[in-house]
Amino acid sequence: MFRRIKGQTQVIDLLQRAIEQNRIAQAYLFHGSDGVGKFMTALYFGMALNCLSSSEYRPCGICASCHKFLSLEHPDFMYLFPTVNLKLSSDGEIKEADALKQYQAYIRNKIEKPWHDFFFSGSTEIRKESISLLIKRLEYSIHEAQYRVVIIENADMMNTQTANAFLKTLEEPPENTVIILITEKLPQILPTIISRCQPVYFKPLAQSVIQSILFEDFKVDTVIAKSSARISGGNLKTAIRIAQDTANSTRDKAFEMVRMAAENMSLEHLNHISKHRESADAIKDLLAYLGIIANDLATINHAEDEITNLDKSDFIMSLAHPGIEDLIPDYLLLLDEFSRKLEGNVNPNLILINLFIATKQLLHP
Ligand SMILES: [Zn+2]
Repeated sequence: MFRRIKGQTQVIDLLQRAIEQNRIAQAYLFHGSDGVGKFMTALYFGMALNCLSSSEYRPCGICASCHKFLSLEHPDFMYLFPTVNLKLSSDGEIKEADALKQYQAYIRNKIEKPWHDFFFSGSTEIRKESISLLIKRLEYSIHEAQYRVVIIENADMMNTQTANAFLKTLEEPPENTVIILITEKLPQILPTIISRCQPVYFKPLAQSVIQSILFEDFKVDTVIAKSSARISGGNLKTAIRIAQDTANSTRDKAFEMVRMAAENMSLEHLNHISKHRESADAIKDLLAYLGIIANDLATINHAEDEITNLDKSDFIMSLAHPGIEDLIPDYLLLLDEFSRKLEGNVNPNLILINLFIATKQLLHP
């Protein structure tokens, strides 16, 4: 099953070697950007350490132990992630009804749609109570596993006090216990934590890997798979979100905006594209699509078959005017700038208006 994790061969090799040579570190720090397989790899590593199959391809994914891991219910698997205040009792029961509901929804989402982000309503962190409870539970003996497995997701979301409370455990975990910390934000992890773990870096996924996952596992059509992979920046979650965007409405919107700009329509027509207030994420996706269309515009005259939006090549060809290639680099820089502004909380609708004006200027210099 390890082979199901695509695009992280070096990491998988490293972990598999560790198992074969029986040199399992007591604590790992899996770091790298979002959507590149860190949690899945951590879970499969825990499974591999405990798989009951005699096959050389472990984890098998079907034995009793693997099953318990896959449903996140193994008695020797402990999984911490940032939550709202769960109002934990001293034995770890979640006392608050709404918090419990959200907690269960988080777990369900992680099992059923791990590529989808679940957001708690309310501010989240890895709380001192959760860490204290974990430390207490690690003092008990192991139920049935070969290796007890602890995964702490978004480990950067522990405050200093909580992280310090965990240091001693991290330095000397009980026997046969593997702790895996996961983070997208390595610089926010205390050096004292980093120095007690074996760091394992997950690189962004290659476009070709994302494209093939979308195509094979999610049955996404080739053109959409290609453009989604290109936009995703190596993040599978982003790629899936864009590819599954209902009937790819963002891509349609991008082409609609370009068509309106090409026809020199006035600003009030923008409400064809955006009737409601748009979220910053939606505008960001739109920016990314416009970037791809602009790249296609730059390419189409000398390498038509290299463009991403192959199904729209006639339309793209009709947009090209002499000299457009010289304007595209500046247009792309502008898209980047808009994207940065969105992160800085500039009103998305304002960006949309400026984007439309810029697109008109590109097509009608
Ligand atoms: Zn198994």
